Amino acid sequence: MEQQTPISSSTDRFFAWIGRHKIWIMSLAAALALLTWLALNRDNILAPLGSFLRKLSLFSVPILLFLLTLALGIIKALHSKWRRAKLECQRASNTEAALTKRTKALQTLVMAAQTLSTQQDLDGLLSHLLEIAKESTGARYVALAISNDNQREPGQFLSSGIDDAAAQAIQALPLDQGAMDSLGQEPSALSLRHLTTHWASLGLPKDPVPMTSYLGMSIRCHGRFFGRLSLANKLTDQGLATDFSGLDEQIVLTLAAQAGTAIQNLQLLQDSQEEARHDSLTDLLNHSAILHTLTQELSRAERTRHPVAVLMADLDHFKQVNDTYGHPVGDIVIQETAQRLRKAARRYDHVGRAGGEEFLIIVPNCDLDSLRECAERFRMAISDMPFDTPSGPLPITVSIGATVASPGHPLSSELLRKMADYALYRVKSRGRNGVDIVPHPHTLVPEQIKKVE
Ligand code: GH3
Ligand code: MG
Ligand code: MG
Repeated sequence: MEQQTPISSSTDRFFAWIGRHKIWIMSLAAALALLTWLALNRDNILAPLGSFLRKLSLFSVPILLFLLTLALGIIKALHSKWRRAKLECQRASNTEAALTKRTKALQTLVMAAQTLSTQQDLDGLLSHLLEIAKESTGARYVALAISNDNQREPGQFLSSGIDDAAAQAIQALPLDQGAMDSLGQEPSALSLRHLTTHWASLGLPKDPVPMTSYLGMSIRCHGRFFGRLSLANKLTDQGLATDFSGLDEQIVLTLAAQAGTAIQNLQLLQDSQEEARHDSLTDLLNHSAILHTLTQELSRAERTRHPVAVLMADLDHFKQVNDTYGHPVGDIVIQETAQRLRKAARRYDHVGRAGGEEFLIIVPNCDLDSLRECAERFRMAISDMPFDTPSGPLPITVSIGATVASPGHPLSSELLRKMADYALYRVKSRGRNGVDIVPHPHTLVPEQIKKVE
């Protein structure tokens, strides 16, 4: 650190101050001297400066103009660059928004494909399809009509966001024949605008739903037509749109294709499940299916406290038919028996082929009092009229053993079968072509149970 010299008097302090500011003092003195000299010789000194400035002004105007033009040019170039950058930015954000929209649509479609392909029942699949179509396109009304031409069940009609009358109105849209044809044949979407006006111009009754936009699509798979998906009144953040977008069309197109495949797969699955439940010769429920039905009916009867009758029917001396007329004629007799039993059954009865020429019949709501009459009805359906076969008319008879599960006395399906079998055994022992009933399980003694096993 620099040592400070102590100052004893004000004179010393003054000289010390002078020493510290000597540069400023000298500069001030020189400036004063210069100003004084300038004041004394003003004309002589400023004269050349004045003439220099006058000469310079002759060139300054073009130079200034040039500089101004240059500056304007630079500003203009910068402005157009800025505008281009702004446009690029806008375009990029639009592209990004469109990309986000498409990505979202793609995600919806992937999820839809997964959901549709895992649906196990047709109703669930169709209502799912409606919801997906509605959510992914922003349609306010969605309606789906499944054709009954290609379905075993009657045609189905589903709608969402809409009452029944409005949904029917969408289905009954006055589309011209060309439009209808294109919906029926082509795998492309049909987009229409301002349908309300279109509707009114045809002089049709006042439409219950004012319609602005419509998007229709046929549902098909491998050229097979399943039905039509109709969307109406697209809603956006700005309100009702006049039209569905190109992206909406693509979404609906993909959805319809997925739905067509899913419906067909489901039908194939149902077909194979049905096939597995039915006997190929008679088309009746097969052995395992009729036993499963019996278990279901018994638990239902327990809940509703209704009786269930179980009948076991067996053709008499059927082996002779085979031996005398051949196996094919025997098959015809079995088929005809199945048809007659089915015809004699009521709507809620179940007839199954338990094996060979044996048939198990389940009759819900049939109590002990009406059981004989019911069993006789089935017996007479076989024995009353000879069977028409290629070998001529054949008189065929059947023996029927029956029992009943009464409310409050639940019996297992296995025991019921044994009771019906034992009743059948008694008819056969008595001479056949008749009916017998085992009303209680205690009628059976262990030996009798063994006999029918
Ligand atoms: P019963 O009056 O005692 O019942 O005498 P049955 O001759 O009817 O009884 P059995 O059980 O001895 O004979 C049944 C015959 O049914 C034996 C079998 O060859 C024949 N059968 C079983 N399934 C079929 C079939 O699918 N088609 C034909 N044609 N015959 C069958
Ligand atoms: Mg028999
Ligand atoms: Mg038999």
